[in-house]
Amino acid sequence: MLITLLACVSILYLLMPLVQKNMKKYIKDYCVGCGLCEALGKAKCCEDERGFLHPESGDEEWLSSVCPSGGRQQAAMDFGKIWGKTQAVYYGWSKDEAVRRVASSGGIITEIASWLLEHHSVDGVIHTCPDPDDETKTVSCISTTRDELIGRSGSRYSISHPLSVMGMLDKTKRYAFIGKPCDIAALNNYILIQPEVQNVIVVTLSFFCAGLPSRDAQDKLLSHLGCQKDKLKSLRYRGDGWPGFTTAVAMDGGVYRTDYPTSWGKILGRDIMKMCRFCLDGIGEAADISCGDAWYLTEDKKPDFSEGEGRNVVFARTEKGAELLQKVIQDCKIEVQPANMADIGCMQAYQRDRRASMIDKLIAAKVLGKSVPRWKWTSIIKYGSHISFRRHLSILKGTLKRIVNGKI
Ligand SMILES: Cc1cc2nc3c(=O)[nH]c(=O)nc-3n(C[C@H](O)[C@H](O)[C@H](O)COP(=O)(O)OP(=O)(O)OC[C@H]3O[C@@H](n4cnc5c(N)ncnc54)[C@H](O)[C@@H]3O)c2cc1C
Repeated sequence: MLITLLACVSILYLLMPLVQKNMKKYIKDYCVGCGLCEALGKAKCCEDERGFLHPESGDEEWLSSVCPSGGRQQAAMDFGKIWGKTQAVYYGWSKDEAVRRVASSGGIITEIASWLLEHHSVDGVIHTCPDPDDETKTVSCISTTRDELIGRSGSRYSISHPLSVMGMLDKTKRYAFIGKPCDIAALNNYILIQPEVQNVIVVTLSFFCAGLPSRDAQDKLLSHLGCQKDKLKSLRYRGDGWPGFTTAVAMDGGVYRTDYPTSWGKILGRDIMKMCRFCLDGIGEAADISCGDAWYLTEDKKPDFSEGEGRNVVFARTEKGAELLQKVIQDCKIEVQPANMADIGCMQAYQRDRRASMIDKLIAAKVLGKSVPRWKWTSIIKYGSHISFRRHLSILKGTLKRIVNGKI
């Protein structure tokens, strides 16, 4: 008995460094770059060669509780639903034509954030805008007026660290937070260990996110557009229409543009952060409200990217989100229509498939001895039924190939 006990303790002791090493690796490999740890002095982060952040050193226990790759937010996810926790779902758009036009999709996020400011439900909105010194980069900002929100609306397909402002918030004020789903997951994980933060960040808004393009992808985009980076004055990825054109304006007034299927589909979307390939929540399940593109569908049920008037799919994820959405609807700020879940599956097939095939990606990474985020296998298996066995095999094969070729 004693010998067995001693043997077990020795084995555990020998395995301990391996477990710790592995823990460190998943934190580094699958950092989402939200900026929270550095803002709070919990870690020191460095950029890798593609421009993505990762913690170099820091409080590992804190990081494994807060970083999304630690898997903590899974406890609040509904694995029975491929589109996540849903209190209400609509198609919708801003009733202000200018907002609908300038925003990324239908301007719902900007309109809700603006409603919160105008009704003094919050003092400021934390979100993301272009870096004035380099439009291929972003900075985090706090908007306090509708005009600021509108001026900073639109999708930036570029690396962002929206939680980097967390260390400088006025704790006597209330804020709304707009961020990628992974930023919201990190914030929620932080609130679990620091509950008073929910008195400061009182509502979270997110958007569907297929991945964060690298710094190299920005260079490729500019070179495709034919605009020199040192001559770049402004860069719009989409919006000013729906989806709108990716448009670079040079300092001499030259305008260079390409369509959205080319900029996202052929350039930006091909070179994204590693964690994005293993992302379990690209649909903002962790936020109070999340929005995506409600693409119109062609006859064969494929998304139609031809120019149109912007339209969001809007999910209220929490009771708080549902109440807020109803107030904004009742105040006639946004127009909504009933949404069709089967059609959402066609509009957002990538999001559905990424969730449903997570099991294949984890198997591929494990087989090749790579670190993986700490997703609970039992939960992930539940998503698997949303795609066919053939599709599972093809994704498994594709992921193995990408890992072997160093693309993941
Ligand atoms: C990296 C990225 C990936 C995306 N992937 C998808 C996808 O897979 N499917 C899909 O349907 N739509 C995707 N979108 C678009 C997104 O769904 C739309 O922005 C969403 O429908 C909201 O539209 P809106 O008109 O309400 O937003 P708006 O009213 O224009 O508001 C957008 C808000 O997002 C903030 N923001 C912009 N860029 C970033 C950024 N990089 N990081 C953090 N915050 C930012 C802005 O500050 C603004 O407050 C993506 C957007 C981004 C930035």
